[in-house]
Amino acid sequence: MIEKREFYINGEWVSPSKARDCEVIDPSTEEACAVISLGSTKDTDKAVAAAKAAFESWSQTDPETRLDYVKKIRDIYIDRAEDMAQAISLEMGAPITMSRSSQVTSGTWHIDNFITAFKEVEFLRPLGPHAPNDRIAMEPIGVVGLITPWNWPMNQVTLKVIPALLAGCTMVLKPSEIAPLSSIVFAEIVHAAGVPAGVFNLVNGDGVGVGTDLSTHADVDMISFTGSARAGTAISKAAADTFKRVCLELGGKGANVIFADADAKAVERGVRHCFNNTGQSCNAPTRMLVERPAYDQAVEKAIEVAATVKVGSSHDEGKHIGPVVSAAQYDKIQGLIQKGIDEGARLVAGGVGRPEGFNRGYFVRPTVFADVTNDMTIAREEIFGPVLSIIPFDNEEHAVEIANDTIYGLTNYVQSEDGAKRNRMARRLRSGMVEMNGKSRGAGAPFGGVKASGRAREGGVWGIEEFLEAKAISGWDSDVA
Ligand code: NAD
Repeated sequence: MIEKREFYINGEWVSPSKARDCEVIDPSTEEACAVISLGSTKDTDKAVAAAKAAFESWSQTDPETRLDYVKKIRDIYIDRAEDMAQAISLEMGAPITMSRSSQVTSGTWHIDNFITAFKEVEFLRPLGPHAPNDRIAMEPIGVVGLITPWNWPMNQVTLKVIPALLAGCTMVLKPSEIAPLSSIVFAEIVHAAGVPAGVFNLVNGDGVGVGTDLSTHADVDMISFTGSARAGTAISKAAADTFKRVCLELGGKGANVIFADADAKAVERGVRHCFNNTGQSCNAPTRMLVERPAYDQAVEKAIEVAATVKVGSSHDEGKHIGPVVSAAQYDKIQGLIQKGIDEGARLVAGGVGRPEGFNRGYFVRPTVFADVTNDMTIAREEIFGPVLSIIPFDNEEHAVEIANDTIYGLTNYVQSEDGAKRNRMARRLRSGMVEMNGKSRGAGAPFGGVKASGRAREGGVWGIEEFLEAKAISGWDSDVA
């Protein structure tokens, strides 16, 4: 059993102020694989105090100095890729092959993109030729609380810690208590990179404890949160009294609009994308909207593809999908699959219960529903499991109407060989991102949503600017260097 009870505060690993053990469960075996501590208010206070004390000097460092630390973090992150992959597979169930090829590398990709984007950030810029003695200074917001979920642990940690460091903020990270092991490895990496004491701190804990302590703390200037809409609302309310900036990356219910003129691989691509990471991605294309002339064929194809999706342990090499993260998620997904059946959707693949051959582990059958209507629960709620809903549509107008009829707005997808139609669709879909014909976002594009998907923008220049505040200065002596 792995024992990781300490927190990383002010440059060292320290014991929690009060013993509060929390077991980490391996979702492939349902057995405890590690024990961490849940922090209490005293631990949060200590970490925030360390971050506050470090802010003055860190915020005044030369941007190049901060960039050098991030480059060191990147190099050590790559050296420790295997430790990271093992930690992620163990804590949240991503199969080890996928953990290495996607989970860990998503972190490297973000770090690289931030290094590139950083060159474009102007920390001091002129207002314009009409005001020669005005300057706009972009300044770090202060001490930031970073609260992350379990589904893409390093994707989310790097999307927050790296831009916060580059911006000149100091921080307290609280990773998900369900998947804390990868963040402990990450803290070791930050330490090994020599980042000054107090700049980065890690306190493990749950949402009601450390999460709330950070959200209400008078010395925390901003919360950057990724997770559920429920917690996003709670954090926004908790943070209101202390006037924090709150950046929220929440859930999604992405539509994948497949027109009859889409390329031959569109349906297969959509099914595999939906099932990737066992359906546990906020930007998963979980509602497949298919134009009527192509509908029956698409349902057949989806059945065929779902049958090829293998389920297996996170510890086995291979291209299978793993278990879902926890008993709670397993039960929730089972309930939603049953609801789909009860509400009259046509179950064409998978269904309730574990896949054949499993009597342990949080394994879910890759499931496809056809003839779903957009008012059914499975089309409205984020399931966060390998469950696809296929919905027919009549024409472009109808597709836009269904796609936008959701509380969420993270990523929508369009498949069509007609460029003009794609471009029209891209502008009409209400979401922070639109990906078309299988092309994923380019390096440095902002990741974020609208409506109940939260309104943060992470990644690239936007991701760094989230941690900066504009200061308007007049009377600037432009003759002084
Ligand atoms: P969650 O909201 O339960 O937990 C996320 C984090 O918030 C955890 O660290 C948790 O301890 C903390 N937390 C929970 N309640 C809190 C509270 N009241 N105050 C402060 N902190 C609190 O979500 P989860 O189950 O870990 O993650 C799944 C959710 O995350 C899904 O809804 C998914 O769509 C969303 N997600 C969104 C994005 C995105 O970028 N938009 C990315 C990944 C996941």
